[in-house]
Amino acid sequence: MNSLFSLEGKIALVTGASRGLGQGIAVGLAKAGAEVIGVGTRSLEDTKKEVEGVGGTFHELISDLSKEGAAEKLAADAIAINGRVDILVNNAGIIRRSEAENFSNQDWFDVINVNQHAVFQLSREIGKHMLENESGKIINIASMLSYQGGLKVPAYTASKHAVAGLTKSLANEWSSKGVNVNAIAPGYMATDNTAPIRENEERNAYITSRIPQGRWGTPEDLQGAAVFLASDASNYVNGHVLNVDGGWMSS
Ligand code: NAP
Repeated sequence: MNSLFSLEGKIALVTGASRGLGQGIAVGLAKAGAEVIGVGTRSLEDTKKEVEGVGGTFHELISDLSKEGAAEKLAADAIAINGRVDILVNNAGIIRRSEAENFSNQDWFDVINVNQHAVFQLSREIGKHMLENESGKIINIASMLSYQGGLKVPAYTASKHAVAGLTKSLANEWSSKGVNVNAIAPGYMATDNTAPIRENEERNAYITSRIPQGRWGTPEDLQGAAVFLASDASNYVNGHVLNVDGGWMSS
């Protein structure tokens, strides 16, 4: 049974692996045996330590995915490390908060650029490589705001709806060619991204009370879903958005 979920010998590229959910996913994939290439805009020393702490191998690639041409260069650099990439986790993401009527063009484009445009570009570049190998797993990190509207985060919501749509679109084209494309939609997870919400006592209490499991999620909570979607266990799963949300979408 273990071999069904084993990532032994697989190379995983994880964006936004310096902290938060991406770091948790990188460690989870390493625990299952994958060699991890982590991406961030700055040093990923902490993640390297954590991955090595579970007996894994870690490579760091610094890339600002908001920059033109960054995804193409990152794909080439990642493939050059071992000659292939078997798993891509499109996790890097940003959020900007403001009332919709005051939301600036700059904030709109910044969020769409990282959360949506870079996800497509990197999927296309690594996808081409996976199609040549007739094998690969792409996991996009969606959100509860791939379904719901959220508050004061119009660009984030638009981008995460796009991530869910892109996941299905790519799955339709690539699932018959050996490449599985799926997404994980995390619920409310305790990371830097959600720190401002947790600092708001009233909002924090409301959100916690609406989570059937009664607590915010942690980066470790995503590890099982990530290993499943990266492994042979999910070979007949395509275009699926897997909620890991403590039951939020059912409440
Ligand atoms: P986080 O703690 O703020 O971490 C964001 C990660 O993305 C960091 O590693 C950051 O790298 C990287 N990143 C940001 N901009 C980048 C860029 N231009 N180029 C390359 N890397 C960049 O966020 P998180 O909560 O872990 O979120 C990770 C993903 O999960 C995001 O897509 C987010 O939308 C999604 N998500 C989060 C939650 C939640 O409740 N936290 C819920 C649903 C979905 P640096 O450290 O170098 O800046």
